Amino acid sequence: MNTKGDRKKVFSGIRATGRLHIGNYYGAIKGMIALQDEYDCTFGVMDLHTLTTPYDRGSLQGQIRDVVLDMMAAGLDPKKCRLIIQSHIPEVVELSYYFATVYQLARIEDLPTFKEKKAQYPEHITVALLYYPILMAADILLSKAELVPVGIDQEPHLEAAREIARKFNVTYGDMFPEPQRFATKGELVPSLTGEGKMSKTKEGSFITLADSLDVIRERLAKAPTDSGAKGGSVPKKGGVANLFVLLRLFSSAETVKSYTSVYEQGVIKYAELKHQLSHDIFKELEPLQKRRQYLMEHPHEVDEFLASSETSYREDGRATIAEVREKMGLSSHE
Ligand code: ADP
Repeated sequence: MNTKGDRKKVFSGIRATGRLHIGNYYGAIKGMIALQDEYDCTFGVMDLHTLTTPYDRGSLQGQIRDVVLDMMAAGLDPKKCRLIIQSHIPEVVELSYYFATVYQLARIEDLPTFKEKKAQYPEHITVALLYYPILMAADILLSKAELVPVGIDQEPHLEAAREIARKFNVTYGDMFPEPQRFATKGELVPSLTGEGKMSKTKEGSFITLADSLDVIRERLAKAPTDSGAKGGSVPKKGGVANLFVLLRLFSSAETVKSYTSVYEQGVIKYAELKHQLSHDIFKELEPLQKRRQYLMEHPHEVDEFLASSETSYREDGRATIAEVREKMGLSSHE
């Protein structure tokens, strides 16, 4: 690993809301893996963000561990990056409060993600839900991260983080970068239902990283298609379009070409396409599942990674907090 100080900082996190799916893998984790070789990366399991929507207290610790294991199994390497659990880093909550003092309420109320969650959980519109983008800005900026590998759905939150950084810099003096999204080729993995994005909270929409070949087959079998007889160019929206997006992510260029051509001729057989796609997805997931098994049998490797990440990240966090407090007039100049 290069020395820390001279490398660009990267931060990204995933909420602890259950086993990860191939949308998380393509939109977020692939980006994390791509960056960990070159940059000073910290990744997190965001348990405080998990509390913004209804959750089960008894399952939370298991869900945190599941996400840790999934992230490590997917390729986060203890020699190359840090992996933290958000609630173990109190500095992030402190920083978020300072950020809350420079950000306008009207701006957050306007964010599409807030409006969506409000509609999804009308009985659970808490202050914490509103606060989500501010806490996320603090997650990113505690280590002064400049690059954030996340899916495109997070872009409005990143815009908020940039506004917060700008506002803080203008008010108190330059100290934060304006973080940019690092996009991957799977920045929006669509839902298997044919509508919207793949999401943990939408039943029938996802394939998890833990799924066996049979389960992948079953899930794909339920994905909607058409008669296939129409021919012409591959549609841009709906079930068939989504299957082709998955094919482009998981299958070889020749496979994509050959199914595009049979579609165009109006002779596509979706059972064949789904069979091929199940195999190609499983081929990519199988080594991850083996690594996860290894990690479950060697829990101390996981615990050591988390403990050393936490110590080093909190050290960086304390330095940022000291600088912020001084700039805001909360501590005297030495
Ligand atoms: P979910 O929407 O399944 O609850 P999270 O909100 O925890 O997932 O998102 C974790 C990361 O995975 C974020 O970087 C997010 O942008 C990315 N992500 C989630 N769903 C998708 C998707 N369908 N396609 C691409 N990236 C995604």
